[in-house]
Amino acid sequence: MTDLSGRVALVTGGTRGIGLATARALAEVGATVVLTGRDESRAKEAAATAGAAAGLVLDVTDAKAVATLVRGVAKEHGKLDIVVANAGIMVDALLGMIKEDLVDTTLSTNVAGTLHTVQAAARAMMRKKTGSIVVLASVVGEYGSAGQTVYAASKAAVANIARSAAKELGRSGIRVNAVAPGVIDTDLTSGLSEEAKAENAGRTPLGRLGTAEDVAKVIRFLVSDEASFVTGQVLGVDGGLVL
Ligand code: NDP
Repeated sequence: MTDLSGRVALVTGGTRGIGLATARALAEVGATVVLTGRDESRAKEAAATAGAAAGLVLDVTDAKAVATLVRGVAKEHGKLDIVVANAGIMVDALLGMIKEDLVDTTLSTNVAGTLHTVQAAARAMMRKKTGSIVVLASVVGEYGSAGQTVYAASKAAVANIARSAAKELGRSGIRVNAVAPGVIDTDLTSGLSEEAKAENAGRTPLGRLGTAEDVAKVIRFLVSDEASFVTGQVLGVDGGLVL
């Protein structure tokens, strides 16, 4: 059984979906968890639900705010062992319909937001020469998806943030990995019609959509000592969808 007693963890975008399930999964095995969201009451409520120590306000597009929050968490708890850069958005648009603000919002949240978080996490972990970071990529970042060019591009970038940061930070004892979920039943995919969900489940060898808990358990494995020699990997959590 994974034991994270004594570890301090930060999960961005922890108010619902995969982030909330991850915060809960880490707290369940003893980690002191801080989660974040853009709204104070939602973040506090989620922290209470997940058994987290705190729910703080953070917009990951704001590099200064990310740096300040990460530094603050590390200072308050004396260290920072685990960071899950989970906050992300998905807005579908066919090529001809892509507007500039969709590009800006998606890239500033998914790419720059993840980068800010990994950067701040690395700074906080560097002194102790240990730590584990997980970022949220996607199967569509690896294989593409019609109607999701911007989102797919952003998630390909996220996968390469993990690979590059792993190369750079390995000597400092910091591991960086990504998970690449398939179609997971959360608010993010709530816009899919029942037909589209059934079609996705039908194409998945395991015959169903994923749950937030399916992804959270894999993230928990990656941040734990069970994965002590794993870094720079992009691990599919997709029921075999991409096979
Ligand atoms: P949800 O929409 O359920 O949750 C998204 C979370 O991100 C919320 O907690 C939200 O917080 C937070 N968030 C969004 N924008 C920002 C921002 N600018 N700053 C800070 N927090 C923000 O999504 P999922 O749980 O489904 O997805 C989580 C991650 O997993 C995302 O990166 C997503 O791309 C990825 N993923 C999801 C898949 C799926 O099928 N669901 C598949 C592949 C990858 P709040 O709104 O409260 O501020």
